[in-house]
Amino acid sequence: MNGSPAQRDLIVIAGAGGFIGGALVRYFHERGCRRIRAVDKKPLAEWYQCVPDVECVRLDLSLAANCRRAVDGAAEVYNLAADMGGMGFIEQFRIDCLRNILIDTHLIEAASAAGVGRYFFASSACVYNTDLQSNPNVTALKEGDAYPAMAERGYGWEKLVGEMFCQEYWAERSLRTAIARLHNVYGPHGCWDGGREKAPAALCRKVIEALHEHSGRIVIWGDGSATRSFTYIDDCVAGIDRIMHCDALTATPVNLGSRELVSIDELVSKVEHIAGVRLERHYDPRAPTGVAGRNSDNTFIKQVLDWEPSTTLEAGLAATYAWIEAQYRARPAQSNAVRVGAT
Ligand code: NAD
Repeated sequence: MNGSPAQRDLIVIAGAGGFIGGALVRYFHERGCRRIRAVDKKPLAEWYQCVPDVECVRLDLSLAANCRRAVDGAAEVYNLAADMGGMGFIEQFRIDCLRNILIDTHLIEAASAAGVGRYFFASSACVYNTDLQSNPNVTALKEGDAYPAMAERGYGWEKLVGEMFCQEYWAERSLRTAIARLHNVYGPHGCWDGGREKAPAALCRKVIEALHEHSGRIVIWGDGSATRSFTYIDDCVAGIDRIMHCDALTATPVNLGSRELVSIDELVSKVEHIAGVRLERHYDPRAPTGVAGRNSDNTFIKQVLDWEPSTTLEAGLAATYAWIEAQYRARPAQSNAVRVGAT
């Protein structure tokens, strides 16, 4: 089968209160899916997006019984639930990241027991061998580069084992699984403040703060030389749909990422350009920065799907900046004031 789920089928999206899960609910709803169950452990008021007519359920999916409830009657299950964030979070809270394996364990078991047709797992570029990422002038990572394994401590190992579950549930129990290795997804309706935000959102917020506070300066984590590619959210959800519904990719990890490589300094320049400002740069070498360089090799996804993410960083950042600025303006003035002086 290729294409989105049938409109009458129940699809379950775990982590739907979060950034990618919320966007995926909206994506399928806009494509006519009318039976969507959105699940997250956060209170509904904290979900980034709540799509009308969608069944929203608050459940902690680290518990087996809740996973059985969540997947009851489902044709497809998308696992986007995880305790995670940018480098500031995953370098500091490795135990929380590792404990996501409880969600991976119970959700796939419940899906298999319930006879679900397709199961999606959101893996990460953090599964790749860190020894291959010690230079900003990276060779893009292809799927085979995850082994021999030396994944990112905590978070990366949890994702690698999550992938393994998908491969073995297909091999032993014929559960049709799909695995996407997501590369730095960004866009509107995601975390932009509070410690879990990733570089694009954090830098947009810092530029907005500098403008509003007239500080004229920005603090950048690391020395600005680290390189990454960033994947716009619209490309991410379209890619998840394609990967999930491609039989040739069953139980096969595939990169879902942009190939547009930039340094953090270049990313700052792009945000400054959108904001129409030049700021004095201060670098914090002690801040968490992750590997020196990482990019996505898209040979495999292009070969199988004849598709790859195509939104330019300029276009994606402009939409992201506009959304974060609106959030910033809508927030009570004292919440913004608390941030003055913070990095
Ligand atoms: P997010 O933090 O915005 O969303 C994750 C959601 O999962 C949150 O709403 C959280 O409340 C929920 N959750 C956490 N623990 C839960 C539990 N026990 N039960 C139910 N819900 C729970 O993160 P995101 O950026 O949307 O990421 C979604 C998935 O994609 C995650 O698995 C993440 O590891 C993966 N991923 C994301 C990126 C990225 O750049 N955003 C990159 C690689 C992989």
